[in-house]
Amino acid sequence: MKKFFALIIAALLLVTTSPQTFAQDKVALTESIEEFYSSLPQAKGKYKSRQRPILVEGAMNIETNILVKALKNPVAYRDSKYLFVAGTYKNYPVVVVRTEQGLANAATSTALAIKMFNPVAVINQGTAGGTVPEAHVGDIVIGEKSIPAAAFKTVYSPEGAGVDYTAQEMRGTYVYDETTKVFERQGEYLADKTLLDVSKKVADANSYFNVVTGTIASADWWMSWLDYVKFLNEKYGMAAEEMETVAAAQICHNMKVPFIGIRVISDNDINDEEYDSDVADRSQKFVLLVVNAYVRDVLKK
Ligand code: SAH
Repeated sequence: MKKFFALIIAALLLVTTSPQTFAQDKVALTESIEEFYSSLPQAKGKYKSRQRPILVEGAMNIETNILVKALKNPVAYRDSKYLFVAGTYKNYPVVVVRTEQGLANAATSTALAIKMFNPVAVINQGTAGGTVPEAHVGDIVIGEKSIPAAAFKTVYSPEGAGVDYTAQEMRGTYVYDETTKVFERQGEYLADKTLLDVSKKVADANSYFNVVTGTIASADWWMSWLDYVKFLNEKYGMAAEEMETVAAAQICHNMKVPFIGIRVISDNDINDEEYDSDVADRSQKFVLLVVNAYVRDVLKK
């Protein structure tokens, strides 16, 4: 009988507390974001710039705040849910995009931004889960490659046979190629070589950042099944997992804009390192160094 009452009380608590907590979180988030962005001058008309800007993306406000504050003469642009802030950083035009979370949002906001701002390069950055022991919380991962971690085809297994998660092959997606007249399989996207070289040089010159170079795997999930993480790691060389990079990479590949993904590790299940959102500053600071070096060594040469 006691157990029964305990269960009823637990169920009641769940029903009354969880929606309330969620609603509160939502209000707090919405207020700070809206206050901040509506305080900026709002764009009137189309973006104009003599030089093609560098686009820097982050999904959440904690992943764009440092970048936006680094811009001189910031102006906010909006398209439906998506928010873009254009300004200059060290006298070169830079546009910060708040992509929102997940693959579809990252793809949409990247495509919109390419049309609105005609960028010379795109950097997608933010937080990620570390999936190798050497990528600790606070470390930077330079994505030499990104993959769609959930774009696989499974091997058939009959009802009742259970699931062998290793029985899968990466498929990606197929896109028609005008020149070769075939459907090109897109399963992984390499970082632009120049952006990669510049990022590695920045890493070498700044010992403040511990930097790992590897594959960033993206999917609309937060994957904490360690056996599965290990499998993805062994099969695809995944060093970090998050939810946007590959989508932005795919759009940039198809729209022919140089791209790189750079992340800071905000949790690592393998090392028992818990999620720490405060490290989001670090990828923004690292990326500002990359932007600066790219302008100085590539664009102004
Ligand atoms: N406090 C937030 C956390 C966001 S997690 C919340 O509870 O909603 C999802 C975002 O963080 C995505 O934009 C994703 O790219 C990033 N991210 C950071 N670490 C991740 C991880 N280990 N797995 C998946 N996404 C991660």
